[in-house]
Amino acid sequence: MITSPASAHSRMSEVSNQPVPFFRPDIREDEVQEVVATLRSGWLTTGERVRRFEQDFAAAVGGSHAIALNSATAAMHLALDALRLQRDQAVLVPTMTFAATAEVVRYQGAIPILVDCDAETLNIDLDDAERKLAGRTENVVGIMPVHVGGFMLDMRAVSEFAQRHKLWVVEDAAHAFPAAWRSNVAEEWQRCGHNTADVTCFSFYANKTITTGEGGMAVTEDKDLADRMRLMSLHGLSHDAWGRYTAGGSWDYQILAPGFKYNLTDIAAAIGIHQLARAESMRTEREAIAVYYSQALADVDAIETPPTSADRIHSWHLYPIKLRLDQLSIDRNRFIVELKQAGVGCSVHWRPLHMHPYYQETFGWREEELPVATREWQRVISLPLFPGMRPAEIDRVIETVRRICSVHGSAR
Ligand SMILES: *Cc1c(COP(=O)(O)O)cnc(C)c1O
Repeated sequence: MITSPASAHSRMSEVSNQPVPFFRPDIREDEVQEVVATLRSGWLTTGERVRRFEQDFAAAVGGSHAIALNSATAAMHLALDALRLQRDQAVLVPTMTFAATAEVVRYQGAIPILVDCDAETLNIDLDDAERKLAGRTENVVGIMPVHVGGFMLDMRAVSEFAQRHKLWVVEDAAHAFPAAWRSNVAEEWQRCGHNTADVTCFSFYANKTITTGEGGMAVTEDKDLADRMRLMSLHGLSHDAWGRYTAGGSWDYQILAPGFKYNLTDIAAAIGIHQLARAESMRTEREAIAVYYSQALADVDAIETPPTSADRIHSWHLYPIKLRLDQLSIDRNRFIVELKQAGVGCSVHWRPLHMHPYYQETFGWREEELPVATREWQRVISLPLFPGMRPAEIDRVIETVRRICSVHGSAR
């Protein structure tokens, strides 16, 4: 018998009647008190707490420079600006991602070249990237891998690919903190953000692995890129407000470039400092739930549970199951309706970019050009996974999925 992770030392859980949300943020008293202290401190925007959050985060991922921003989207935009991405240049972007990854390429007037995914992990398929490069006349200058759900790509393979084609790498690591990879068991673990790309971009959006409400972080080993991103994060000013208004600061500043307004507030960083300190314990809790799900669903023929590997430390941002549609009499959308009716929240990551009107109409992408993503997205569903999930909630998710599969399972 499998013991529910959260109930390891309580008695057997009962299946709850309460709805199970897709996500519930895990906010503790430490975060609340730090926000209150910030509000009382007289300094609300970028200041001492942001600096501390940056230092702590850099230490946590083993990166040299960490720049706190108000989103991962801002981090990726600043990275592309710092790498001098020009109008009409092109960037390899996975079609299996969130809107942000490709939209920042458009901010620069550049062209996202969509790449298909690996059928198992849904991460970018470098063989398809090779094919997409071969068929293009545009000047392709970069690649933006995404670690879908927090299962990392082998970043050595990405680096080698990038070097071969003289591309920079900006990592969309919105799901991948804390996460790590190695090519084989004989190697040391490589943390996501430790020199894995030219710039690695993390998200602290409300439902990400750690949150500041809204927030993000750009991490790099390159001081010039770091300096440029910091400059452009606040209107291109030579000194930020903290530098100008604190003791010893000068009132004067110079505008060095037409920058953006992407700085993080101390109120947000107050939350982040404490979330960061608990990041590994929250990851471990998600992992225990994921392992429990996978064991409890292992004998259900109509679904596939997400991949794991001895060479990955998985952040477990998502727990995506895949339906075996040939073993069900209902499709994915109907499956979701059934989950909702049973009070179980869920989500789909994602409708691929090439199946959205903007990318179809602007760039003429067709489904046949990205066959794996076109096929796989029709059978994915992300189940609830968050620290603080109650044993009764975890069991209710499992019981609901098992029931839907047994009621709508078609004979083979
Ligand atoms: C959430 C997410 C983003 C955007 O993060 P923000 O902090 O909201 O800008 C980017 N990419 C992926 C893959 C995401 O899931």
